[in-house]
Amino acid sequence: MRSYTLIAPAKINLYLEIISDRPDGYHELAMILQSIELADEIHLQPLSNEKICVNCNHPQVPTNESNLAYRAAALMATQFPQALAKYGGVEITIRKHIPVAAGLAGGSTNAAAVLMGIDLLWDLGLTKSELEELGATLGSDVPFCVAGGTVIATGRGEQLSPLPSLDHTYMVLAKYRSLEVSTAWAYKTYRQEFSSSYLRDTENLAARAAAVHSEEIVKAILKKDPRKIAEKLHNDLERVVLPAYPQVLQLRELFASQEGVLGTMMSGSGPTVFALVESEQQAQAVKLQMRTAIPDENLELFVTRTITHGIQMAQST
Ligand code: ATP
Repeated sequence: MRSYTLIAPAKINLYLEIISDRPDGYHELAMILQSIELADEIHLQPLSNEKICVNCNHPQVPTNESNLAYRAAALMATQFPQALAKYGGVEITIRKHIPVAAGLAGGSTNAAAVLMGIDLLWDLGLTKSELEELGATLGSDVPFCVAGGTVIATGRGEQLSPLPSLDHTYMVLAKYRSLEVSTAWAYKTYRQEFSSSYLRDTENLAARAAAVHSEEIVKAILKKDPRKIAEKLHNDLERVVLPAYPQVLQLRELFASQEGVLGTMMSGSGPTVFALVESEQQAQAVKLQMRTAIPDENLELFVTRTITHGIQMAQST
């Protein structure tokens, strides 16, 4: 039997608006999600028994049932028991490059890669939308991670409408290694502090409001104009995360003061902050300026760029 290596890219949020809360405990969102080149490698090796096991080179990532990649494999095993019996289990090896608990969908993209990899391994021939549907049961960001690119995500983030792809827009990412922000905390705090600004009406109204508010950045994306996109970046969660995490605020302010930065924003629930720039050369210069300003080795800095795809196969042997 073959083994597969897949490349699982991270994402940033160019736009994140919280429209309202939902009876299921989630929030009605309007987001623009963007795949970036920074990626993990996921290797899938068939096993002769029916087990699922996970290895990971990152000490912060669990290798038990709580790993999202494990949960993706367990889901496939439950959904396709005959394929599991015929082809056997899988050993999943994750080589992490995406910072963990960073607002970059690291776990979600690993799960998406496992769904796609097992589809290949077990010769299931699932369609992209079938994989996305399975992914939605694992987490709101998983469906996006399957196909990636530039997408408007509504609902709790799982309803996807593709936008024209935004290729080769360079950026710098900054994150303190030891700093984590709980996504659940960020949404809960937002709900407590700002729920009076929610729209209390039908889903249609919510969808219309989302379309109106994100209209400007969508226009900029349609024009493929990084300057305009950078002007229209938005993330409602900054309202709770920046006051509570001075280190995130500091990165945000420092990026904003750097020459060559077109716009800066926190991704998802943070704590990663990104800065859009005009070229790779600019990105390297901004990275250097940030490093000089904050010599702390706890600060991770990455130069990366937008890409037009989600999970891709790197190797099959
Ligand atoms: P999102 O942007 O989707 O909110 P994130 O980038 O903030 O996600 P992850 O990197 O997915 O966060 O990690 C969140 C938590 O999930 C971490 O505390 C980590 O221990 C756990 N986790 C489980 N599986 C994985 C995985 N495969 N990769 C990374 N973290 C994982």
